[in-house]
Amino acid sequence: MSIKAPRGTKDIFGEISEKFQEIIKMSEIFKQFNFEQIITPIFESTDLFIRGIGETTDIVEKEMYTFEDKGGRSITLRPEGTASVVRAYGEHKMYQEGSKKFFYFGPMFRYERPQAGRYREFYQIGAEVIGECSYLVDAEVIFMADKFVKKLKINNYSIELNTLGCKVCRAEYQVALKAYLTQFREHLCDDCKRRLETNPLRVLDCKVESCREYFNDVPTLEQYIDDECKVHFEGVKQIITTLGVVFHVNSKLVRGLDYYNRTVFEFVSQDLGAQGTILGGGRYNNLVGEICGGIDQPAIGFAAGMERMAMLMPKMEAKTRKIAICWQGEMGSICALKARLELIEAGYITEMSYESKSFKAQFKKANKDGVDFAVILGEDEVLRNIAKVKNFSSQQEVEVAMSNLVEYFKEA
Ligand code: ATP
Ligand code: MG
Repeated sequence: MSIKAPRGTKDIFGEISEKFQEIIKMSEIFKQFNFEQIITPIFESTDLFIRGIGETTDIVEKEMYTFEDKGGRSITLRPEGTASVVRAYGEHKMYQEGSKKFFYFGPMFRYERPQAGRYREFYQIGAEVIGECSYLVDAEVIFMADKFVKKLKINNYSIELNTLGCKVCRAEYQVALKAYLTQFREHLCDDCKRRLETNPLRVLDCKVESCREYFNDVPTLEQYIDDECKVHFEGVKQIITTLGVVFHVNSKLVRGLDYYNRTVFEFVSQDLGAQGTILGGGRYNNLVGEICGGIDQPAIGFAAGMERMAMLMPKMEAKTRKIAICWQGEMGSICALKARLELIEAGYITEMSYESKSFKAQFKKANKDGVDFAVILGEDEVLRNIAKVKNFSSQQEVEVAMSNLVEYFKEA
């Protein structure tokens, strides 16, 4: 039996790989907002995620890839990026430099039931600001995320925004929410029943349709939110409105991780079915203290699923011209190599055969490879110090002096 990639994983090549490259290229926008890239380990101590994500979350309860290494340490393949960024921030005492902005991308691992848009290994790109508490930052992060997604030519999504208040006002709300939901306890799924005891807010994150029916008239945080949290939320809404971000408030948006407070948001597409959330984020003012021990710093961030974004991106248009250098004879091969290097230097994508083959075979391969032009270097052309250039879309051929080749493509 041949070996296949493990369930829930995939190889990324062709169109999707092109889209991933585009996503990474467009992260240039993060740099313009003065975020620096951070690369953290793909595995960490299991404790980091238990503390950083929360014991009553889906991720920690059932989705982590955890194993013991040969030294007897409990290791977990990272299920998300924020905990690691925060750990690095504390470990390298970056708080001494004031606030910091980071972005990252890479694979994440969650033991989930694989389906369209849901994998066991998937890629996220995300950004975090640590050390700023103003609602201006929340607004800027949402604005930046929106700009980023739009740069990928994804337009059909909505931005949902909510506030989770702080520990104090949320505690009161949770009591009211629990009392309300307990009336319908018997009709809720087992996960909800459990969450009702451990973390009532998380019940609202349930995706089961028959549970969601009971959420229509749940109490909202609005009645319990304290003044400071309210001012913060109003501030975020006002600024992003001024910046032209289109959003709507969804008072049932709670997000899956325990560490959020105040602002939470999701970018949701209608075109992806059940796996519609492309990007999620929020403020997490208590996480830094939780992970870094004693260093309290407010923070906010988001992460976007690269596969889900790639599914929504339009087909990539090749921007750079592709040129096949076709040759015959030993002198032809050397001229071809030289021409190839000159064209690469000038910024084109080029390909050539490494074996002596008929022109017909070379054209056939070039066609499959989606080239725009062929540079033809037969014995006769080499002797005359020219090349024939064949345009694959018009099928026309012209003769070009070798010394003029790069010039010719610049004008063509
Ligand atoms: P979901 O509700 O879809 O499970 P989540 O709340 O668990 O999402 P986050 O932890 O907020 O997701 O991760 C941010 C983004 O990462 C998601 O919006 C999604 O685009 C992507 N993502 C999360 N889990 C997966 C997965 N298993 N496969 C592919 N992409 C994922
Ligand atoms: Mg999930």
